[in-house]
Amino acid sequence: MAIVIKTAKEVEKMRRAGEIVREVLHAVRAMVKPGVTTLELENVADKMIADAGAKPAFKGYHGFPCVLCTSLNDQVVHGIPSAKTVLREGDILSVDCGAVIDGYYGDSAITIPVGKVAPTTQRLLDVTEGSLARAIETVRPGAMLGDVGAAVQEMVEAEGFSVVKEFVGHGIGTRMHEDPQIPNFGQRGRGVRLREGMVLAIEPMVNAGSEAVRVLKDGWTAVTEDGSLSAHFEHTVAVTKDGAAILTL
Ligand code: MG
Ligand code: MG
Repeated sequence: MAIVIKTAKEVEKMRRAGEIVREVLHAVRAMVKPGVTTLELENVADKMIADAGAKPAFKGYHGFPCVLCTSLNDQVVHGIPSAKTVLREGDILSVDCGAVIDGYYGDSAITIPVGKVAPTTQRLLDVTEGSLARAIETVRPGAMLGDVGAAVQEMVEAEGFSVVKEFVGHGIGTRMHEDPQIPNFGQRGRGVRLREGMVLAIEPMVNAGSEAVRVLKDGWTAVTEDGSLSAHFEHTVAVTKDGAAILTL
């Protein structure tokens, strides 16, 4: 499938979707503390998206049951909010949110420390978020998709962590997942050439241990094979003539 190029007007519409997602993640971050359940976060996100006149992007997507993906500790992505999942001091929680308004999607994720976390845990979060920032810095017309993945991989591996290869970022627009796929690894100068008007959901998923992941029996929740912690940060980013515009910031 061809990569869809968006007009400036379409990018502005996507900014609205991005703002809603950002507001939800901001509210969720403020709520996260020991004793809170992931279902409580889900309920707030559900209401905020409805109040904004938007629709959740994930709920019903291939049958996913919730508005948020909430992935705790060794869960990599696609964790399902539950009243049984109670946050504890020292945990990390990845929260992924997508919304659609006026036909356009926004998609963003953050990993939030619960209370005080171990220094090595904080480093995993900092490196993952930092690798997203490095990736976004490479985005401009004429850059290559391989530059984006290489930026993530180089930073993560230099820190002794590993990038997940089974899940990737994606183009985004009037559908949540459009071409191209955006791996968190690659070689500079390779792959698709970026053009003004492309919109990309860049989302490094980083494991403290090995890169191997498996999916639990619920059919959704991906966990690290070795039980190590995993972090996930994501922004929806438009390629503009000046470089990158982060639509979910
Ligand atoms: Mg996402
Ligand atoms: Mg995504």
